[in-house]
Amino acid sequence: MRLYEHEGKTFFAKNKIPTSQGKVVTTTEDAVAAASEIGFPVVIKAQVLTGGRGKAGGVKIANNESEVAALSSQILSLSIKGYPVQKLLIEPALQIEREIYLGVTIDRANYKLVLIGCAEGGVEIEETAKKAPEKIIKIPFEIDAPIYSYHGIEMAKKLGLSGSDLKDVAPIAVRLFNLFKKLDCKVAEINPLVKTKNGKWLAADARIALDDDALFRHPEVTEMGITVRHEEGELTDREKKARDWGIPYVDLDGDIGMFPGGAGFGIVGNDFIHHYGGKPANFMDSGGGPSPERIAKMLVLLDENPQVKVIFGARFGGISRCDDFAKGVIQFLREHGLSKPMVVRMTGNKWEEGLKIFEQAKAETPDLFKRIEFHGIETPIEDISQRAVALAKNA
Ligand code: GDP
Ligand code: MN
Repeated sequence: MRLYEHEGKTFFAKNKIPTSQGKVVTTTEDAVAAASEIGFPVVIKAQVLTGGRGKAGGVKIANNESEVAALSSQILSLSIKGYPVQKLLIEPALQIEREIYLGVTIDRANYKLVLIGCAEGGVEIEETAKKAPEKIIKIPFEIDAPIYSYHGIEMAKKLGLSGSDLKDVAPIAVRLFNLFKKLDCKVAEINPLVKTKNGKWLAADARIALDDDALFRHPEVTEMGITVRHEEGELTDREKKARDWGIPYVDLDGDIGMFPGGAGFGIVGNDFIHHYGGKPANFMDSGGGPSPERIAKMLVLLDENPQVKVIFGARFGGISRCDDFAKGVIQFLREHGLSKPMVVRMTGNKWEEGLKIFEQAKAETPDLFKRIEFHGIETPIEDISQRAVALAKNA
């Protein structure tokens, strides 16, 4: 998950990586107040979980109060690569003489960590890597190998630095590498690392992505109020609700609500739906042996999602039992009602019992079942996948 620039800079500061620091605000008034306190000129920076803010107009210099007011309200109305700007970072503006790039990431192809440098910073490193790969300097490390000062010096030299520049930048590279390991990062990047007109080197930007699965080892992250986020941004409201209910769930951009028995079928079902020309609205997992309550909650997530046009259910009873599954679906129908068509297939452990439970409930309250098509082992999964796609197309 990604951190905001200001969060990344807090970690830089704590780990002796020199960086500009300022104040985070959410309104124009607070931006003006913060800027007056800091002193002009200031730089106003959109805080969103994506890069390329500079190009998108999310980084501006202001020389007085009225400029801060105008630029802040302008930036707060922006949406950068789909992320609405809700926070601004106000910092003393830097007088930049030079910008370079430093980063640490995982080289998955070679099972190594890699320290990366480029003498041309500020621009998107991915672009440079494509157009002029020879400009990218890489120093690989075995996963457990430590970094030493001479690695920092080697990097600084390869960047063409000497004298006090070399002396300043080399330890920053070492500290960035150590911070990467300490926080279990996936990426730790300073772009740009700037040299100011008065000769000081400091991180003008911070891009850090953490490994969610290692978050439990980092109380220092959660203590800052940082919780799990999407790889690409904040969790949606529905994803937060699912997380609170303990249901693994991700919103996607299609219209078929996926109600699978488990993660395995979630993946296979995703392929089936795509194969027949449909698009899933989500990915979801029930976990092993879900209770009827959990099954009902999974359906609430799909039924309340306005993007979902049809619910596609497939339960292969293994450890999980189809009778529990049927009870969960019925519990949902009685408590909530179903607002859209649903196609369900159920086979495996206790599927006959499950079907019996459905038939009995349907005989008692046929109205609740009007929008549901039930299938057992006799209907191949290909058929119900196609049926779901067809229902979504005609909805
Ligand atoms: P990004 O575009 O999302 O990566 O945002 P950055 O924080 O890297 O800012 C983009 C560019 O804005 C930098 O490469 C700098 O050239 C410029 N910039 C950022 N902060 C300052 C500052 O304090 N003063 C000046 N003059 N330029 C800045
Ligand atoms: Mn940047």
